[in-house]
Amino acid sequence: MIKLNVIGDPVMHSKSPIVHGKVMNALGVEYEYDRVLVKKGGLAEYIKNAVSSGIIGFNLTMPHKTDIIPFLKEIDNDAKLFGAVNTVKIKDGELYGYNTDAGGLVLSLAENGFDVKNKDIVILGAGGVSSTIAVKFAVMGAKSITILNRTPEKAENIYNIIESIRDKFNIASNVKFGDFKIDTLKHYTKDCDMLLNATPLGMTGVDLDYEDLSFMDTMRGDTFVADLIYSPAKTRFLEYAEQLSHKIMNGYGMLIGQAILADEIYLDRKLDVSELYTKATV
Ligand code: NAP
Repeated sequence: MIKLNVIGDPVMHSKSPIVHGKVMNALGVEYEYDRVLVKKGGLAEYIKNAVSSGIIGFNLTMPHKTDIIPFLKEIDNDAKLFGAVNTVKIKDGELYGYNTDAGGLVLSLAENGFDVKNKDIVILGAGGVSSTIAVKFAVMGAKSITILNRTPEKAENIYNIIESIRDKFNIASNVKFGDFKIDTLKHYTKDCDMLLNATPLGMTGVDLDYEDLSFMDTMRGDTFVADLIYSPAKTRFLEYAEQLSHKIMNGYGMLIGQAILADEIYLDRKLDVSELYTKATV
């Protein structure tokens, strides 16, 4: 029996026990996975207890993803790249940090036949997840990444982050940013390979939604349309794209993908991610 936690504040809403449960069940691994409320500043005490309790690792959500770094012996490349950790493995009393968030999205895209390399990608929204994803796509060799946001300065911040690591990571992507006006959306989406919604517009519990989706009317027929939202399973954004015959994907695969990659770390063995993805997303 392996034991895992997810820690955060708030944490009771976390879907981690459910998605890790799906993966562990598909693998036939006996597990216990608990949500643990850890308030900001509470990491040192939690870690002391965690190491002695025999858990093999833990996932992290707000507000610990960056605060955990000083406690770690080593961190992986994505965690270094994003300055954030979502997965900690405990080994011989030492803590090792990883970030599987963007990798989870990349895995779900691959399972849907989409490889970001050499692609023109438009991301709507410039929050925390958008930033992580844009950096990952740049490092992976996207041809262009355009970030459009209500507050264009936040899209510009992501542009600046990518420019600051361009030489170090040999980034060749053409990175652009802009506002969220309908004409801007129309201009940048008409000739892209993937359009990705990284805003909460249309999410269950959020009152606001896209008022006008007609910017999609002029998109190329082969543009892949993805939404990071998984509740509802099909947002109006995705419904509209589907009506226009675009291939679509919601955010559930990202959630499952990041869990599969984290479980590979916890179990310390190579998993058949594709098979697990298929089993865990039904
Ligand atoms: P965030 O940091 O709060 O950023 C939200 C972004 O959406 C901001 O750029 C914000 O624009 C924009 N936005 C919010 N309300 C808007 C409105 N009414 N009109 C136009 N733009 C609006 O959020 P996040 O953490 O990056 O998460 C983004 C999305 O990803 C959420 O829907 C979340 O549920 C989803 N998500 C999915 C997964 C998964 O596993 N599938 C994981 C994490 C997150 P401003 O900059 O102008 O405020």
